[in-house]
Amino acid sequence: IDVIRTVLAKHGFHFSKSLGQNFLTDVSVPQRIAAMSGAAEAGSVVEVGPGMGCLTAELCRVAGRVVAVELDRALLPVLDETLAEFDNFEVVQGDVLALDLAALCKEKFGDGRVVACANLPYYITSPIVMKLLEEKLPIESITVMVQHEAAQRLCAEPGTREAGAVTYAVHYYAKPQLLFTVKPGSFFPPPKVTSAVIRLELHRERPVAPRDEAAMFRTVRAAFGQRRKTAVNSV
Ligand code: SAM
Repeated sequence: IDVIRTVLAKHGFHFSKSLGQNFLTDVSVPQRIAAMSGAAEAGSVVEVGPGMGCLTAELCRVAGRVVAVELDRALLPVLDETLAEFDNFEVVQGDVLALDLAALCKEKFGDGRVVACANLPYYITSPIVMKLLEEKLPIESITVMVQHEAAQRLCAEPGTREAGAVTYAVHYYAKPQLLFTVKPGSFFPPPKVTSAVIRLELHRERPVAPRDEAAMFRTVRAAFGQRRKTAVNSV
């Protein structure tokens, strides 16, 4: 934590709560995430929100190439310093939700194998996960840290109490797995809740072939829209 404080103070950096900035401090956590992300096998990684580069460094060690998207401009000079030893890293400044990720992957990785990996900003967990799943990106898997509660919902088995509309969307695109949980003390500043790392392995072939995908998702959302009512009435 002292190293983090010193580097950030040198660059006059202040944490932004609204950008979900909780940086990993316990180096064993990013090492495990990087090892389980499939980055070594695939060769290329697209990362969301590198922060000051704690997870990025571990990804750079195992992968051939890492491209990270960071919204906060103030972190770019910090990353220059913390990742100076790696020549296989590149940062793109921007809002991941606004970026054309398919075009970015094509430009940076061509037709190569790619995985996505991140310690996500929790305030936009679902929009980012859904974007990574829906936009027909050339990625094989998504390994991300999220709030434990979100992880349980994203990885729930259909038909169980924990399942929500997002569970069905996830299962349509991928095979989800909850890998391990992480305590607030592994971050600075510590978040209020326990976190968990999940891995979504994208299907090569979808489990169902709806005639109208949009109608299928509208129906799923309707069924979960009013949880106190019987699903059939909501639909
Ligand atoms: N990867 C770092 C780590 O594990 O220590 C930082 C993770 S922190 C939970 C989330 C990061 O996402 C922050 O660096 C934050 O600035 C960035 N971020 C927040 N909103 C973003 C957005 N819309 N697009 C890209 N990055 C974003």
